[in-house]
Amino acid sequence: MDDGGMKILNTGPTEMALRTQAVDGATLQTALARWREALGPAHVVADGDEVAAANQATFAPTGQVLAIIRPSTTEEVQACMRAAHELRIPVYPVSRGRNWGYGSRTPVQGAAVLMELRRMDRVLEFDEDLAYIRVQPGVTFQQLAEFLDAQGSALQIHATAGPADGSMVGNTLERGQSHGPSTSAGRGVGDFEVVLADGRVVNTSSRRFPSAPHGAVEPFPAGPDVTGMFFESNAGIVTAMTVWLTRRWKDMRVLRLGLKDQDAFRRTLAGVRDLMQDGVLLPRSVLFNNEYRLRNAGAKPWVHVDENGESLILPGGERARMLPMWVGRDLAWACNVTLCAPDPAIGERLQQIAREALAPLADVVFEATLSGVASRPSPEYEWFPLWNKPTSSRDAPDLDHERVGYIFVAPVVPADPVQVQHVYDTMCRTMLEHGFEPFINLRFWEPRSLVFVGSIVWDRDDAGADERGLRCFDALMGPLGEEGYLPYRIPTFHMQRLPRPADDWGGFWRDVKRALDPHDVLSPGRYDFRYAWPD
Ligand SMILES: Cc1cc2nc3c(=O)[nH]c(=O)nc-3n(C[C@H](O)[C@H](O)[C@H](O)COP(=O)(O)OP(=O)(O)OC[C@H]3O[C@@H](n4cnc5c(N)ncnc54)[C@H](O)[C@@H]3O)c2cc1C
Repeated sequence: MDDGGMKILNTGPTEMALRTQAVDGATLQTALARWREALGPAHVVADGDEVAAANQATFAPTGQVLAIIRPSTTEEVQACMRAAHELRIPVYPVSRGRNWGYGSRTPVQGAAVLMELRRMDRVLEFDEDLAYIRVQPGVTFQQLAEFLDAQGSALQIHATAGPADGSMVGNTLERGQSHGPSTSAGRGVGDFEVVLADGRVVNTSSRRFPSAPHGAVEPFPAGPDVTGMFFESNAGIVTAMTVWLTRRWKDMRVLRLGLKDQDAFRRTLAGVRDLMQDGVLLPRSVLFNNEYRLRNAGAKPWVHVDENGESLILPGGERARMLPMWVGRDLAWACNVTLCAPDPAIGERLQQIAREALAPLADVVFEATLSGVASRPSPEYEWFPLWNKPTSSRDAPDLDHERVGYIFVAPVVPADPVQVQHVYDTMCRTMLEHGFEPFINLRFWEPRSLVFVGSIVWDRDDAGADERGLRCFDALMGPLGEEGYLPYRIPTFHMQRLPRPADDWGGFWRDVKRALDPHDVLSPGRYDFRYAWPD
C-alpha cells in the first residue's frame, strides 16, 4: 500500500506469525520530522535512489527499508531512538552495511527505517603500549590498517577476507571470521558503549565509573558482564567498542599442505587440531576444497542447470583443462597452517615440530617464512563473487548493485574428522544437486571446533536462480540444522527458521527483549528466536 508518500509493506499472515508490527504512514512522517530536527535534513533520506539501493541484497530480501537516517554522534543515536520508541517505528541499525551473503542492509523482517552509522567514523582512543584501540561503528578495516601504518605501530588488527570498507564493529557484532592472529575477530573485543531501544545509554565495562582507568584493558568489569548480549542480537546499538590489538608477527611461518583425497583430509584435520591444542599452531588454520581453489584461480562455472532443472557437471578432466598451468589441480584439499614466534630460532623449532607431524600426512608441502607482516584487509577478495557475472563492470565492487547472488552457509562442527567429513559430504552433494559449485572452506574456530564457510553463488539476473539459491540453502541447513549443525551466523531470511529449542530459551529471550524494548522497535526478528516465544 502507498501511505503518505511512503511505500509501506503489507503485514501478511507470515509476518503476523512473526509478530512484526505495521508502520503507519502518518506516524512515520512525524518521526521523519523529529529525525530531521535532530540530525539535519541532509541526513534523513525518505525516498529516491538511495532508499531503493538500500533495499537490494545478494538474495531476495525479507524486510523492507522505508527511509534512511544517519546520526553522527552517540547523542544523535539516542535522540533517534527516543523518537522511534515513542512513535513505535522499527529501526534497523547497521555500521557500514556490507553484510554481503547474510542480508546486506535489509531488515530481518517487516518494514523498518535503516540507521546507518557510517558517519561515526572516529578512532576514539589508541594506546601502543597497552595495545588497544577504541573505535566508532563507522570505522572500516582499511581505515584501521592505514591508521596503524600512519602511527608506525607495531600492532595489527584482525582483518577479514571480506570487504575492506566493512566495519570492525559491524563485523565483530556478527562474530566475523578473521584471517588475523586468530579466526575469531571477536576475540579481545569489548568495552561497549550501547544505546538501548528507548535511547538510554550503558557501558559494558568499568567505564561506567568515570574515574576507573581500566575500562579498555580489563577482561571483565565487577559484576555481571553483559557484553555478549550485544553480539548477534537486537538488544542495543553499539556506538563504541574497544579492540585489543596483537603485535605484528616477528617470525611467521606458513605451511601449505596439498591433500590428494578425503583420507588425507581427515588425517590432516586431526593432526592440525592436535598441534593447535599443543600451542604449536595459531588458531587460524584454514582448509580449502579444490572447487574453492579453482574459482580463486580463475576457472569459469562448471556446473550448469538444464531446462529440466537437472545439474550438468563438467567432468574433472575438462575442468582441469580450463587451468592448464595451475599447479596442484589434482589435489582434493589445500590446508594452510600458521605458526608465529618471537624470534627465528623458536620459529624454526616450531616449524620442525609441525613439519614432522603433518608432512607425512600430506601429498605436497610448501613452506614460507615471513617477518614483520601484519594482518590486513585484502580488497581483491571482493571480486570472487563476480566470477560468473559476464557483464560485471568491475568499477564498483558493490555486490548488491552488481546483482550478485550470494549466500553463506556456515555450520559449526566439532573438530572430529568423522563429523566434519559427514557435513562436508552433505554440503557438496546438496550444492551440486541444486546446480551450484561447492565452494567450501573450513576454518578452525578454536582447536575444538571448525566453521564451514560454503558459498552459494549465482547471477541474480538468471531467471529462477534466486529461488534456486534459497532452495539450496534450505536443503542444506534444514537437515544439517535438525542434526544439530547450526550456523555460527545466520542470513536474515533464516533467522526465524532454526530448530525449536527444547529448554525455556524462547521465553527467556522474549522476557529480556520485552524488558529492554517493550515496543519492539530495535531490529525486530534479529537473532531473537521469536518463532519460539511461548506467546
Ligand atoms: C567475498 C566475500 C568474502 C567475505 N569474507 C568474510 C570474512 O572473511 N569474514 C567475515 O566475517 N565476513 C566475510 N564476508 C561477509 C561480510 O561481507 C563481512 O562480514 C562484512 O564485514 C560485514 O559488513 P559490515 O562490516 O559493514 O557490518 P554491518 O553490515 O554494518 O553489520 C552487520 C550486522 O550487524 C548488525 N549491526 C551492525 N552494526 C551494529 C551496531 N553498531 N549496533 C548493533 N547492531 C549492529 C546489523 O544487524 C548488521 O546487519 C564476506 C563477504 C563476501 C561477499
